[in-house]
Amino acid sequence: MFSDKNEFKESFLKRIEMSLGKAFPDSTKRDQFHILGNMIREHISTNWIQTNEHYRLNQKKQVYYLSIEFLLGRLLGQNLLNLGIYDIVQEGLHDLGISLHDLEEVESDAGLGNGGLGRLAACFMDSLASLDLPGHGYGIRYKHGLFEQRIVDGFQVELPEQWLRHGHVWEVRKPDLTVEVPFWGRVETIKGKDGKLIFEHRDAEYVSAVPYDLPVVGYQNTTVNTLRLWSAEPSRYQPNRDMMRYKRDTEAISEFLYPDDTHDEGKILRLKQQYFLVSASVKTILRQFSSRQSNIEDLPEHVAIHINDTHPVLAIPELMRILLDEYGLDWDKAWRVTTKTFCYTNHTTLSEALEKWSVRIFQPLLPRIYGIVHEINERYCQQLWEKYPGEWDRIKHMAIISYDEVKMAHLAIAGSYSVNGVAKLHTDILKTREMNMFYNFSPEKFNNKTNGITHRRWLLKSNPELTQLLVHTIGDSFIKDPEQLMELERYSNDSVLQEDMKKVKQIKKEQLAARILDQNGLSVDTESIFDVQVKRLHAYKRQLLNVLHIMYLYNRIKEDSSFTMHPQTFIFGAKASPGYYYAKKIIKLIHSVANKVNHDPKTKDLIKVVFLENYRVSLAEEIIPAANVSEQISTASKEASGTGNMKFMMNGALTIGTLDGANVEMAERVGQENMFIFGLRSEQVLDYYSYGGYVASEYYHHDERIRQVVNQLVNGFFSDNDEPFDLIYDSLLTENDYYFVLRDFSAYVDAHEKINATYKHPKEWLRKSILNIAHSGYFSSDRTIAEYAKDIWGIEQYSLIRK
Ligand SMILES: *Cc1c(COP(=O)(O)O)cnc(C)c1O
Repeated sequence: MFSDKNEFKESFLKRIEMSLGKAFPDSTKRDQFHILGNMIREHISTNWIQTNEHYRLNQKKQVYYLSIEFLLGRLLGQNLLNLGIYDIVQEGLHDLGISLHDLEEVESDAGLGNGGLGRLAACFMDSLASLDLPGHGYGIRYKHGLFEQRIVDGFQVELPEQWLRHGHVWEVRKPDLTVEVPFWGRVETIKGKDGKLIFEHRDAEYVSAVPYDLPVVGYQNTTVNTLRLWSAEPSRYQPNRDMMRYKRDTEAISEFLYPDDTHDEGKILRLKQQYFLVSASVKTILRQFSSRQSNIEDLPEHVAIHINDTHPVLAIPELMRILLDEYGLDWDKAWRVTTKTFCYTNHTTLSEALEKWSVRIFQPLLPRIYGIVHEINERYCQQLWEKYPGEWDRIKHMAIISYDEVKMAHLAIAGSYSVNGVAKLHTDILKTREMNMFYNFSPEKFNNKTNGITHRRWLLKSNPELTQLLVHTIGDSFIKDPEQLMELERYSNDSVLQEDMKKVKQIKKEQLAARILDQNGLSVDTESIFDVQVKRLHAYKRQLLNVLHIMYLYNRIKEDSSFTMHPQTFIFGAKASPGYYYAKKIIKLIHSVANKVNHDPKTKDLIKVVFLENYRVSLAEEIIPAANVSEQISTASKEASGTGNMKFMMNGALTIGTLDGANVEMAERVGQENMFIFGLRSEQVLDYYSYGGYVASEYYHHDERIRQVVNQLVNGFFSDNDEPFDLIYDSLLTENDYYFVLRDFSAYVDAHEKINATYKHPKEWLRKSILNIAHSGYFSSDRTIAEYAKDIWGIEQYSLIRK
């Protein structure tokens, strides 16, 4: 469509006039963004059509990735980069007096996810396309993504997010591919001619699932995969009863993303969303399969369906339903096909996050699906009984339905041929503790796939300055093969590279400082250590430990005139789930501490505290490249993997962290001496949980520093604040500090002292920083996806097929 900047400019100007009916000088930034977006989408469409055509014609296996969340962020810049036309477009626009960067900022984040789980799905989409792999995503087109966070007087306020307000230029609505999804009603059984029972779902309420397709552009190849997001609309086929109520109930299904990634709201709507997603997706998958193949029993040779956490697990009984009721397979055949088709990723061991559904809710909403889950449970328990005769407790514990609840993780394990954890430690904990009984019963299913991040967004796109320096130093082979970053290892002592690295970091810090000044009206010292903790607010992630340490530093500076430190800027970003009262208190605490510290003439030149509101992908892209220190301080055993940790590592930040999640593997690779590892190990934490022995108040009584900061939570130390932090105080002392904040406090202080000491030796710091980047290639999602493709899905690169 255009191959140089002049062709681009000509075409862009023509489009502005033709589509907008305006002369170019009258066009707004938003006009220009929309025109550009449309041009690029059209530019993509040839390869998109061709990719789909090839998938239709060839017989090779495809994977479908089902996820209730896709945290995509902005797409313009990434699409231009992957298409290899970023520079052409940037220069062309520049000639017209337009900054591409400004246009990129017009785009709303597609924030259809809470945090790590949704962002992982987005990184996986990018890697699948960039590796030429036949992989498709299926999700929900929520009208409102994760809420927009505002901070008012230090409190979080939630506003409905509005990413579709001005339309979404990348999506293509495909009404002809609408799928009908039934809810409620009742199941009737009729005897068929051959004596077989026929199940009929009567009086159901139908909802139309209308697909909106997004192109997923591979990096400088010709692959354009599809992310299909379903939107819920009233069905034409629904007999017209109370039309207003029906329309409202229907549209509610794709109205909001649930703003919670750990516990479940236990609401019918959430279950409706889940079945809506999987029913529409599985029906479509089978329609596509049937257009290529005739024998349904061959499904597993041609299709793998991946379920990202348990939210899409009803895809298992949905496939069973179709195989039984529509294809007429007998149970054993249907189960064999199903269990060779599904694979499942577990994302957490937090027991409160394991999804359960009350039969009372489940059965009436999804009567046929419930019947199938019930039968799956009966047969599964029968198998368990054969292996463990008489072991009632074990069977009750492993059952899919027990105490009138459906255990979604158990259904996922029973119905999948592969169950994977997301980091080595996490998978080990699954095997030896949380899911030990399932592991003993079917060890062959369990495997690990350590998470990754796409270096195309988290390095090339968000940090072009660093990318350029890396290319200059080791060549560009790491762009296609990120593990080539290891070539940097030889340069870790190179003073020229070290100096250049320092300059790049300084540029990114200045850019972030400008953002902080703009948003918070606070000027920060770019020579200070930028120490960053950005992630969802959760007790187990221990933002509290970070804040208590800042309070301690404040006290120390005030009381000990001989105390010195390198100036440090503590930067936070975090959304708290709206109903998570404790997490919201922590946000308030961060602001109260900031208020005191930032304005005290004795401390404000040494420590500053910044909270950047509305943490999201586009903000992460600005913050992470500017970090000197990455805070990854979860209670050991609680963070399944973490992916923020990997983004920071790739951008040269040094990690202060516990041996939790993927931090363990980061340490294995870069060496503990190049990180600041502290605190309890996961076995110690798990032993405390099993055998007791931790008494938080002892740490309070025996450590003066702890006593002082904990008292300051409730003694009016924060004068601006009329409601004290009793809740937090009580969580530490009355409730015995479930997340071991006080237990790890002293070790955390020591680790921070080491950071301070190391930062005083720039060469030493930069050497470690370079080594971190060198070893970060392993944490590219290209490596992760290559492992999934080979070990779990059995799919091959599509370029090989195409020849
Ligand atoms: C990467 C990312 C996360 C996950 O961060 P963790 O530190 O792994 O919890 C959450 N939100 C956004 C916007 C991200 O980009």
